[in-house]
Amino acid sequence: MFSNTEDSKTKLSELGEFGLIDHLTKHFSIQQSSTLKSIGDDAAVLEHKDPIVVTTDMLVEGIHFDLSYSPLKHLGYKAVMVNLSDVYAMNAKATQITVSISCSNRFTVEALEELYAGIHHAASLYNIDVVGGDTTSAIKGLSISITAIGTAKKEKITYRSGAKPNDLVVVSGDLGSAFMGLKVLEREKEVFKVNPNSQPDLEKYTYLVERQLKPEARKDIPELLEKLGVLPTAMIDISDGLSSEIIHISKNSNVGANLFEDKLPMDPALIATCEEFELDSTTVVLNGGEDYELLFTIDQKDYDKIKGNPNLSVIGHITEAKEGIHLITRANQKLPIQAMGWNSMDKEEN
Ligand code: ADP
Ligand code: MG
Repeated sequence: MFSNTEDSKTKLSELGEFGLIDHLTKHFSIQQSSTLKSIGDDAAVLEHKDPIVVTTDMLVEGIHFDLSYSPLKHLGYKAVMVNLSDVYAMNAKATQITVSISCSNRFTVEALEELYAGIHHAASLYNIDVVGGDTTSAIKGLSISITAIGTAKKEKITYRSGAKPNDLVVVSGDLGSAFMGLKVLEREKEVFKVNPNSQPDLEKYTYLVERQLKPEARKDIPELLEKLGVLPTAMIDISDGLSSEIIHISKNSNVGANLFEDKLPMDPALIATCEEFELDSTTVVLNGGEDYELLFTIDQKDYDKIKGNPNLSVIGHITEAKEGIHLITRANQKLPIQAMGWNSMDKEEN
């Protein structure tokens, strides 16, 4: 934590552009038979039997990450995860990525090695090939843009637009923890500014901080659904927060939704830390982003297939569009879920 990237040794200019690309990518191996040509030519060559899905996400220093508390290795890992998550949200299998980076000369070869160690770790764990990219210098800061490629049978691809009234709304894992992890890190950064010798004690926040710095994309969920014989009617990954994502599904499917406060999955560490920060955990779960869980809808007839699965929570159901999108609170109040920032329950009830 709080490492200084300027301390390391080798300047980027010492390796030159081609030397640097070679140096950073030499450990990448090919795991997918659909990769016919990887790094080293003008373009990669891929051969997929089924439709391909393609998605890109860019992470910019100062906007999406802060290097004073994001170790570069974690950042590389996370940059891959946010992209794979979009592939899994299409109910597809991720197979390849390309990685483009721009950075200023404040970064050293050692710093980029760390970043690539995280990318490499993510690629081997998730069984995907890094098949290309681009490397360029920048006046200021670090940016990473990753494009992920995946594949799925046409009839299995799941869009945001397929939800219909009476479908169940299901979410994987638990929500809100990544946001509270960020709150903890931001607080520690402020403490560090005042007293640089302070040693942050993050032990009780380990889960939350990990959810923020090293999220996992839910590769297992499309696999689980396939095994259970469940084809979701609509699906999206939770990057901006539950409110925003259920609104996307509702708008794209032209339906409404009721979510139930008492069904929202929360980790005990999230509940305890929300209390400590005097934040309402429901508000955090609805609006905190970066969980990278999957939110999907299923036909009622599939309920028995997912019932009791520890990875999945049924949190509500789909309604007609005219009924709108609501949260039913523990006190049985019906509150509208809003597009930008669902403020607080008290305010909504006036
Ligand atoms: P070109 O000039 O044809 O764009 P480059 O010199 O940029 O080629 O890249 C050479 C090879 O290295 C290409 O296969 C490219 O995809 C790959 N590559 C370049 N930068 C990266 C990177 N940051 N990560 C992974 N592969 C990269
Ligand atoms: Mg290039």
